Amino acid sequence: MPNFHVAIDGPAGSGKSTISKRVAEELNLIHIDTGAMYRAITYVALKEGIDLDDEQAYDFVEMVKINYTNDKIYANGEDVTEKIRSDKVTKNVSKVSSFPTVRKHLVKIQKQAANGKNVIMDGRDIGSVVLVDADLKIFLTANVEERAKRRMLELHQKGLEIDLLTVIKDIEMRDLKDSTRKASPLIIPKDAIIVDTTDYSIEDTVQVIINEIVKKETYHGKREK
Ligand code: C5P
Repeated sequence: MPNFHVAIDGPAGSGKSTISKRVAEELNLIHIDTGAMYRAITYVALKEGIDLDDEQAYDFVEMVKINYTNDKIYANGEDVTEKIRSDKVTKNVSKVSSFPTVRKHLVKIQKQAANGKNVIMDGRDIGSVVLVDADLKIFLTANVEERAKRRMLELHQKGLEIDLLTVIKDIEMRDLKDSTRKASPLIIPKDAIIVDTTDYSIEDTVQVIINEIVKKETYHGKREK
């Protein structure tokens, strides 16, 4: 039965999703972007107008149906793929994801999604909480200027003008919140390989991870999914 799991963790803008998606395509793995799930919950919370500071208001998450197909993400049937990338969602997602009620629900969905499948999953607590027995754990990082430049480029491509200092500040704020929250903060799992991508291209990084995967005895080639 296929059950090969790669956990990719790292701070904002370290390239986790882009890299994981490319590795998944190369090796025929299923890619699960858990950040998109936290963003989807944040989008619904904002839409419903709940008090984002009130833990009790998050009881609604149990009812939110998250579906994931071909690079699209749906929340209660609504295609939120683009909407979850908005500035408003990005600014609030660290707060929403700090609540244990939200994390418990999404971690359950993520564990189920990986069970019995060959998966590469990226996020902040994958190696430490969601897939503790992953066959390979990678902690992707890069210095904050480089991460901010990448994020800025992405935003420019979408036609949004924003200066580097603002992006650096936003990223630093999100890193601080994500790594100091009480419930499963962003940490480097003790058995993770740290990959600093500051001076690497996307292709270099993809190759480093593929090399680590194929070295694993538990990896049995690209065909079984
Ligand atoms: O990966 P991305 O930047 O889209 O993640 C958005 C936010 O979701 C993170 O800043 C973090 O607050 C939260 N997150 C999390 N745990 C994960 C994935 C994302 O708390 N496994």
